[in-house]
Amino acid sequence: MPLAPLLLAMALGQTDPYIRSRVDAGDTGTQCLYWTSPRIVWNQSTYGNPDTAGDSEFDAIRASFQSWQDIFAECGNLALVEGPRVDERQVGYRRQGDNTNLVLFRTRDCNTVVPESEACWDDDTCANTYDCWDDDDNTIAITLTTYDERSGIIYDSDISFNAARFSFTTATCFPPTTTQCVATDVQNTATHEVGHLIGLDHTRASGSTMNPSAPPGEVSKRVVDSGSRGFVCDAYPQGQASQSCLHPVTSIDLGPKAGGCSAAGPGGALALVAVWSLWLARRRRHEEAVR
Ligand SMILES: [Zn+2]
Repeated sequence: MPLAPLLLAMALGQTDPYIRSRVDAGDTGTQCLYWTSPRIVWNQSTYGNPDTAGDSEFDAIRASFQSWQDIFAECGNLALVEGPRVDERQVGYRRQGDNTNLVLFRTRDCNTVVPESEACWDDDTCANTYDCWDDDDNTIAITLTTYDERSGIIYDSDISFNAARFSFTTATCFPPTTTQCVATDVQNTATHEVGHLIGLDHTRASGSTMNPSAPPGEVSKRVVDSGSRGFVCDAYPQGQASQSCLHPVTSIDLGPKAGGCSAAGPGGALALVAVWSLWLARRRRHEEAVR
């Protein structure tokens, strides 16, 4: 990296050991995103990734969550629990009905399966409607997180892999000349994305799991680095409440959302929808490929 950009990155704190996700990315005047429920159940989509050897993608993703869970067991307060595989193919948060924290592979490119005239292009729903990848070609995976804009509390987080473009593998040798070798490693990718799921943003700290780039063949992100480990201990301290960034979340911060959830009659339900639409936001986290 040339000297000037390096200094700029350091000045902006982009090489900190870890950077927490914010309601407004990078704005330390806004709340951090974090979970307050002590148990996060996540589910893999039954479909898996047909191009990955056997069922190894399921094991690789489980190993990624386990890497973080091992840290939570040492110094954190969350339990990341795998639920049963589900047929679900929709990401995002539903105001009504079940919400799963879903991990899935999109194997089709929306550009090739969705007509240009489709309305889903305008309202950003093609991925769910057509079960396809609708983000940038060079993005390896996305974590889509839904959170309360005032408190930063996370309600739902889903991880999508771009299997339409990338060849995901689970082996450890390189270069990817055979199916036994690594092209884009599932566990490397998933460990990074689970970092987003629990509230980490990117950092350019050397050797960080949360570095935004992942060259072909990389497997180093499988092991959570010490900086990211520190985030777990700091933000989710064992035996204590999860830590907000600005000030402790109070019932006032939660406001009508908390009341509406428990007391919604027919009128309350309408109000609740309006409140959710104002306060809930989604954040996409990208893993950029290196050409
Ligand atoms: Zn990322």
